[in-house]
Amino acid sequence: MEQKGTLYLVATPIGNLEDITLRALRVLNEVDLIAAEDTRQTVKLLNHYNIKKPLVSYHEHNKVSKGNYLIEQLLSGKNIALVSDAGTPGISDPGEDLVKLAIENNIAVTMVPGPVAAIMGLVLSGLPAGRFVFEGFLPMNKRARKERLEYLKNEVRTIILYEAPHKLLYTLNDLYDILGNRKVVLARELTKIYEEFLRCDLSEAIKHFEEQSPKGEYVVILEGINVNTIKEETVKQWEGKDIKEHMEIYLLQGMDKKEAMKKVAEDRGISRREVYNELLKIKNKG
Ligand code: SAM
Repeated sequence: MEQKGTLYLVATPIGNLEDITLRALRVLNEVDLIAAEDTRQTVKLLNHYNIKKPLVSYHEHNKVSKGNYLIEQLLSGKNIALVSDAGTPGISDPGEDLVKLAIENNIAVTMVPGPVAAIMGLVLSGLPAGRFVFEGFLPMNKRARKERLEYLKNEVRTIILYEAPHKLLYTLNDLYDILGNRKVVLARELTKIYEEFLRCDLSEAIKHFEEQSPKGEYVVILEGINVNTIKEETVKQWEGKDIKEHMEIYLLQGMDKKEAMKKVAEDRGISRREVYNELLKIKNKG
C-alpha cells in the first residue's frame, strides 16, 4: 500500500517578507503541492524566494470540494503545504477544516509555526498578556453580534479581535455601547512600514477614527473588565434591597438556598446565621 503524505500548515509573513523561517522555505521547496488561500498573494511570496511549485487554491468558498481533492492527494502519498493569505493558517482563515479532515483520514498533520497578528498585537499592546481570549472577527449578523458582545461584557481576560478597516469604527462603537468605555489598543500594519499603535480608551479611539478614517490592517486589543467593576455592579444590584430581595437575585440566577445565603452573607460582610435570622424576622413580620 502506498504511504500517505503529510499535511504541513506553513505560517507565512503578515506583511514583512523577511518573516519566514528557514524551515518554512525548505518545506515549501520540498512538498509536492501548495494549497493557498489567495494564490496571487502566495505567488508573490514564492517568486520572492524563487520557489516553483504547483499551486491549488483553497479558500472559504471552495473548501469542501478542494478539501476532498487535497485529502485524495495526501492519501495517494503527496506532501502538501497549506498557506493562508497571511500569517498562521487556521487562525481566522480556512485551515481548521482541512486539519480536521486530515485527522479523520489518519493523515499526519504538522506545522511550521510563524507570525500571528493577534499575538504580536497582544504582546506589544502593553495590556495584560498572561491571560487573553481571541475572538477573531465579530459576527456581522446584528443579533449574533450583540449576543457575542453581551457574552464578552464580563470577560476579565484581555480580548483580541480582528477587524477590517472599513468596519473598524462601527465595531468600536458597538464595543463602547455594550462593554462600556475601557482601554483599547489599535495595532495597525504590523511588521509593515507604517506599523503603528494607538493606545487610548474606546471613546478616544472613536473620536480619532471619526476624524481620520482607518487605513490598513488592524488588530483590536481590549482590556478585560476589572474584577472590582463586576463586584461594584453586583453591589449596585442589591444595594437598597432587604435580605429577602437580595436572596432572590441569586435564587433567580439558579443558586440553591444554601449557596444564595452564603453569597448574601459574603456580599454584606455578615455571617450566614445573621442572614438566616434576618430572613426569619422578615418571614415572621409577614
Ligand atoms: N491568519 C492570520 C494571522 O495569523 O494573523 C489572520 C488572517 S485574518 C483573515 C486577517 C486579519 O488579521 C486582518 O483583518 C487583521 O485584523 C489581522 N491582520 C493580519 N495581518 C495584519 C497586520 N500586518 N497588522 C495588523 N493586523 C493584521
